[in-house]
Amino acid sequence: MSKCAILGGKPVREKAIPWVGTMGKEEKEAVLEVMDTGVLSDFLANSGDKFLGGRKVKELEAAFAERFHSKHAISVNSATTALHTAVAACGIGPGDEVLVSPYTMVASASAILMNGGIPVFVDIDENTYTMNPSLIERWITPRTKAILTVNIFGFPGYLKEIRAIADKYGLLLIEDNAQAPGATVNGTEAGTIGDIGIFSLNYHKIIQSGEGGVLVTDSDELAWRCQLIRNHGEVALDELNDMETAVLGNNYRMSELHAAIGIEQLKKLDLFLESRRMLAARLSKALKEIRGLTGVFLPEGYTHSYYLYPIKFDRNEWKISRKLFADAVSAEGFPLGVGYVKPIYLMNLYRHKHIINEKSTFPFSMVDKLTQEYQKGLCPVVERMHYEELVTADVCRLPYTENDIDDFVEALEKVRSAQDELSGLGD
Ligand SMILES: *Cc1c(COP(=O)(O)O)cnc(C)c1O
Repeated sequence: MSKCAILGGKPVREKAIPWVGTMGKEEKEAVLEVMDTGVLSDFLANSGDKFLGGRKVKELEAAFAERFHSKHAISVNSATTALHTAVAACGIGPGDEVLVSPYTMVASASAILMNGGIPVFVDIDENTYTMNPSLIERWITPRTKAILTVNIFGFPGYLKEIRAIADKYGLLLIEDNAQAPGATVNGTEAGTIGDIGIFSLNYHKIIQSGEGGVLVTDSDELAWRCQLIRNHGEVALDELNDMETAVLGNNYRMSELHAAIGIEQLKKLDLFLESRRMLAARLSKALKEIRGLTGVFLPEGYTHSYYLYPIKFDRNEWKISRKLFADAVSAEGFPLGVGYVKPIYLMNLYRHKHIINEKSTFPFSMVDKLTQEYQKGLCPVVERMHYEELVTADVCRLPYTENDIDDFVEALEKVRSAQDELSGLGD
């Protein structure tokens, strides 16, 4: 079946609105200014005054710490390396278990494995797609060291409840806040409720520098460990005559160019969020009137960053499949994502429990008996959302306008009223 004109006649939009980046003249000028200095990165991996990076890196970190009310901010070169750094700084080692959401970009769980830890997946809440706090305690074992929550699609997650559980069991809390910069829980910034939070400056995120990541923490000790891990800290520690601490560092340094872009982008975050929230509010209101679709659920006291706008396709209310629905809406000029990413524990790596070849069974081989079988049925809610109910719309962002949202809603309504006609088409 051809993708265009599923419904015949003229689509609401002939062409999808193109994706545009968020770069402006401020970013360009900031990059040129760094180019003129000739110093494109200003780190040295020794204990001297360049251990903590250059002028722009420090400026970016100060701006992040101020914007998110955090004592420390540490820049790195991606949110993936930020996650690796966070897990390592928390002292997670071989055989330690970390509770994590299965519905996230794969890096959230890889960071645990890369430190020798073992991910234990906690199912999500079906209204917010974030870790369900009422399911956490059943997975806590003597090996559990931390909880890694993911503030998915821009929703901060039930962070107060999860913080309370972490405190009760003496676990560290790491927040993967790559998708939710500026979201809040009762006025507190997402990313700062955990012991350590990570942000992304990847090209696809709400603010970006191409590639980049930032960690935030109020703990002096965790901040120092992150700085050591970022920049081959074993050298600096020896030079500083620190006989107690040992660290295995890496090169996770951010360049001055990326930092310069990130500084300008952070200044624009609140403007971007304002337009995302305005568009999302309009969409949420309209979705209340469309049977069979449920928009974002935002509990009292929360704000959302709307990195993506998740919509639940209530399958009992429709005569057509989710796939046909998404194809039909896409053909109207508004591409919809079907599901998000495969629940992580169903990926080959987790099913095989070895890496590249069968000899590399570390870290799974660290424990006699794994706490979880990574198999279908482990987290029924995430499986239902992914395989049956969730669609995602990337419409709550610039350059979309309120008029575009109205057209999107028109496309949804059009497909809704044509479902009898469509149901004859099969899948
Ligand atoms: C994008 C993303 C990451 C990784 O970010 P990079 O900066 O691309 O490494 C991690 N976690 C989540 C939830 C993300 O969306």
